[in-house]
Amino acid sequence: MAKRENPSYVLDLDGIQVRVTKKRVKNVNFRIGPNGEALMSVPWSTSKQKAEQYARGHIDWFRRALARKEATHHTLPRRWESGEKVRVWGEEVELCVQETSDHAFCSLEGNRLVLCVPADSTPEIRSALVESWKRDELRMRLEDLLPECEKRVGVHATSVTLRRMKTRWGSCTTSTGRIRLNTALAEAVPECLEMVLVHELCHLHVPNHGPKFHALMDLHFPSWRVYRRYLNKSGIL
Ligand SMILES: [Zn+2]
Repeated sequence: MAKRENPSYVLDLDGIQVRVTKKRVKNVNFRIGPNGEALMSVPWSTSKQKAEQYARGHIDWFRRALARKEATHHTLPRRWESGEKVRVWGEEVELCVQETSDHAFCSLEGNRLVLCVPADSTPEIRSALVESWKRDELRMRLEDLLPECEKRVGVHATSVTLRRMKTRWGSCTTSTGRIRLNTALAEAVPECLEMVLVHELCHLHVPNHGPKFHALMDLHFPSWRVYRRYLNKSGIL
């Protein structure tokens, strides 16, 4: 699930700037980027005129998605203070920062993500605490999910490591059987973790994304397209 540098240009649609990127994809895709930019990817053969037509057809979607992004302050740099919204397993929860003189911790309590930290803790410290909480969450889910998916796909991963990645949800080194998953998956609905895990496990059978790979995905996780679309549009990465 890597991203490469692809040719791109910007369309101005009545004040909304849409960055169009040409990719080796079959379908046109629309999403909002991490800094609140309107993004669209198109197959290589798509002309600028055609791309503009597609974008205009989606202008209401862009408007709504951008407004939503603005409303949840995702466009502002996060300060990790009480009241900020964070996403946990596909749900928006409110960050609740409490002071403690004891050791710091993070826990999900109902629809609040409680951060107990020293009063002078920096945003970096708070962010790292949430990051390690996400890793624990993912590890907990993977305890059952990994063996179950390995059995389904009929392969064994030599290791599964979790880390924050900027451009990919997961990756797999087929020669060693090592899989890496993005900790940001803890922000998406749980099916996405399963989908990416199955995707990387399928690479242990087929290293590329050709028809054989898609057939394997259809077999082991039939709704993969739904969750891929969800991830692309989520704006999480
Ligand atoms: Zn892949």
